Amino acid sequence: MNAELIAIGSELVCGASLDTNSQWLSQELESRGWTVTRHTTIADDLPAMIETLQAAARRCRIVLVTGGLGPTRDDITREAIAGAFDQPLVEDESELQHVLALFARLGRHMPDRNRIQAMRPRDATHLRNNHGTAPGILLNVELPECMVAAMPGVPGEMKKMFHEQLVTMLPESSVFVRRVVLRTFGYGESHAEELLGDLTARGRNPEVGITASGAVISLSVTARADTESECDVLIRPVIDLINEKLSHAVYGTGSDELHDVVRQRLADEKLTVSLVEGTTTGGLLSQWLVHDPERGGSVVRSNRLVSGTDDMDDLVMLCEAVRNSADYAIVTSHSVYHLNDDGTAVMHGQFAVTGRGLSRVVNVDFAGDLGIFRERAARMALNLIRLHIGGHPVGRVAAGNAVR
Ligand code: AMP
Ligand code: MG
Repeated sequence: MNAELIAIGSELVCGASLDTNSQWLSQELESRGWTVTRHTTIADDLPAMIETLQAAARRCRIVLVTGGLGPTRDDITREAIAGAFDQPLVEDESELQHVLALFARLGRHMPDRNRIQAMRPRDATHLRNNHGTAPGILLNVELPECMVAAMPGVPGEMKKMFHEQLVTMLPESSVFVRRVVLRTFGYGESHAEELLGDLTARGRNPEVGITASGAVISLSVTARADTESECDVLIRPVIDLINEKLSHAVYGTGSDELHDVVRQRLADEKLTVSLVEGTTTGGLLSQWLVHDPERGGSVVRSNRLVSGTDDMDDLVMLCEAVRNSADYAIVTSHSVYHLNDDGTAVMHGQFAVTGRGLSRVVNVDFAGDLGIFRERAARMALNLIRLHIGGHPVGRVAAGNAVR
């Protein structure tokens, strides 16, 4: 059961703003058993909109459109739907009264231009907007059968209209979709894929997707079946296999952040951490672990490293001195930016992590998106503590970094 989303607005196409509506709608539709097969973003351009609407309606059962329903001349989604499905635009008396009443309540005269918002393609119905002036449009067409629904572009109005008006009108999907996301740290994307064999090949059920962000690899396992329990039966062995292959690299699920998981673990075990941070992590660890009255915290001391040290032994000694009576300590060095002969930029930094039975110094050399250097280094340090608390070997850290 397929659906497509169309985002309308020249501001989206030129890059001035981001289409977050389609992201949100995809999640909503998927949780109701729909497979979203395509997102299309188009400028406020009538022929392009007509062409896209017709093609999408031929391909799938639901087409949801956002944007272009305002009163201004650039908002032409009404005209596009009417044009795409051969309908004249007609004025809807009850919608006109609704918009007039809305302006009257605000004590304002309705500009003539707003009258256009009471127009709809002849066979369409309006979706009431209880939070703004732009009503939505709902049209069922036979191309084969397709539900076309247009909603305002303003995300807050769109979301409320979807929940308050559209959800109950959506055709029932005969398919269940269930997705479990496993979050991992410690392997590169291609290394993780290598370990997983052909699990990430397309066309499987469940389908395994792999994405990387800030050195965190997320594996999303998506099953489609007739019932929820069939989905669970399909998903279980795949999750088990991922856990077996990537073992201790799996630190959480969903959108879990590594630092939240580690902070929670420290709080649960009543363990403390002492920190001294140079520019390798630049205060990120303090920010992540600092005491939060709602979620607890474990940082007993946090300082900024004033003078750097290049000596690894010095770093460990400093770390142990800093640890004092805390359970763990992390000391991060200053980072150094270096331009290689071939023009590639590399950042270099170091950190030490110590605890009872734990003493590690790690070189962080990173040529890539230098913007995530600090995040990556901070996650590497926290990951060592996570592995140590769990009783797992701490010899391995993210690929490409030397461990002593
Ligand atoms: P419109 O309904 O086209 O008048 O859009 C109104 C406002 O909603 C725009 O100026 C954008 O700021 C916002 N908007 C429109 N489409 C989207 C979208 N796909 N994602 C996020 N915001 C949007
Ligand atoms: Mg617009």
